[in-house]
Amino acid sequence: MSDFDVVIVGGGIAGASLGAEIAHKRRTLILEAEDHCGFHSTGRSAAFWLESYGGPKVALLTSASRSFLEQPPADFVDHGLLHRRGALHLSREGWADLPNGVESKRLERGEIERLVPGIREEWRHAVLEPGCADIDVASLHSAYLRLFKRGGGEVANGARLTGAQRTEGRWSLSLADGASLQASLLIDAAGAWADPVAEMCGARPLGVAPKRRTMVQLRVGRRGLRELPLIDDADGTFYFKGEGDCSVWLSPHDEITTGPCDAAPEEIDIAIAIDRFEQVVDWPIERVERSWAGLRSFAPDRLPVYGFDPGQPGFFWCAGQGGFGIQSAPAAAKLAASALLGDPLDPALAHIDPALFAPGRFSPSAATSSAV
Ligand SMILES: Cc1cc2nc3c(=O)[nH]c(=O)nc-3n(C[C@H](O)[C@H](O)[C@H](O)COP(=O)(O)OP(=O)(O)OC[C@H]3O[C@@H](n4cnc5c(N)ncnc54)[C@H](O)[C@@H]3O)c2cc1C
Repeated sequence: MSDFDVVIVGGGIAGASLGAEIAHKRRTLILEAEDHCGFHSTGRSAAFWLESYGGPKVALLTSASRSFLEQPPADFVDHGLLHRRGALHLSREGWADLPNGVESKRLERGEIERLVPGIREEWRHAVLEPGCADIDVASLHSAYLRLFKRGGGEVANGARLTGAQRTEGRWSLSLADGASLQASLLIDAAGAWADPVAEMCGARPLGVAPKRRTMVQLRVGRRGLRELPLIDDADGTFYFKGEGDCSVWLSPHDEITTGPCDAAPEEIDIAIAIDRFEQVVDWPIERVERSWAGLRSFAPDRLPVYGFDPGQPGFFWCAGQGGFGIQSAPAAAKLAASALLGDPLDPALAHIDPALFAPGRFSPSAATSSAV
């Protein structure tokens, strides 16, 4: 079992969803360094679907993923993967700007108080985005892995890629445990490790930069919070949403540059999160129930990268999903699969230009031609 059409490096949501789209057409292997897929960013997200997030180009992918997440095919998973909660974008002055086409409504102070009892006086404006929903990330990820395997795909866990050479149109790949295998195409879905994997394969790194984000599960002296909307501010300094009856998931919206690693929360970021939370509501804080951190990896223009590398044949990018990799996965996987296999794009995605996300946008010739 050492000869494949396609090897995917990384078994997070990016590798699993793209793998599920291609496994029935190409003999495909997912290589995952950790003992289980989803150990890194995919297992650490805040799990929301927020159409306005990431700007208008990301919103194309997020919006196009909605119907699949809302009503997935019965043979994929037997329940919907979205649970609607709505989002409130708060501001002290003015109103948050949302991309065109995103359903939203401006709220006055009275309505804000009704939705968030105990909100501090200074938060006078809010834009309600009613479509925001929680995503059942674990079910989505495991359903993609199941579909991948049903299509004939194989998953190797504890299998870290450590070396790659391309000769005569084939990859010779070596793993940390000394095993080796061959493949025609290699997909880089390595999340925070996307650039190191590219370098290992002789491709020019694109500058995909991991940024640490902290999450805190906070117990507060207030009940009835489970269905609380996702609440953030227009300046991007915090967000929180209801978790349990008396608890919230809170983030200081941090974005700390780091190397690829098993990210852990820092005390200072937890303290900043709590301080910012206290400036929003007057709810007594009882304790931190748990905290975690994960990496959101961004290309220099903060758009994802799907497509063949312009300089290294047989090397395909599926990286840079930043803070939107779960909510955009269904559409992104279809778009990437069509670029990989040369198949026509799903008609439901016909309005999306794959060139927006192609890695060629970073090549020096693209820079020259756009500068002319
Ligand atoms: C705190 C936080 C909150 C977030 N909230 C949201 C949200 O609400 N909604 C949303 O849509 N997105 C959210 N995101 C973003 C989302 O989690 C990511 O965009 C997504 O999980 C990225 O998926 P991935 O498969 O690219 O990366 P990962 O899940 O990190 O998978 C990459 C995998 O590659 C493997 N790998 C790396 N190098 C090698 C190698 N050499 N050999 C073999 N395997 C290798 C790693 O072990 C890893 O498992 C959040 C992220 C964080 C950190």
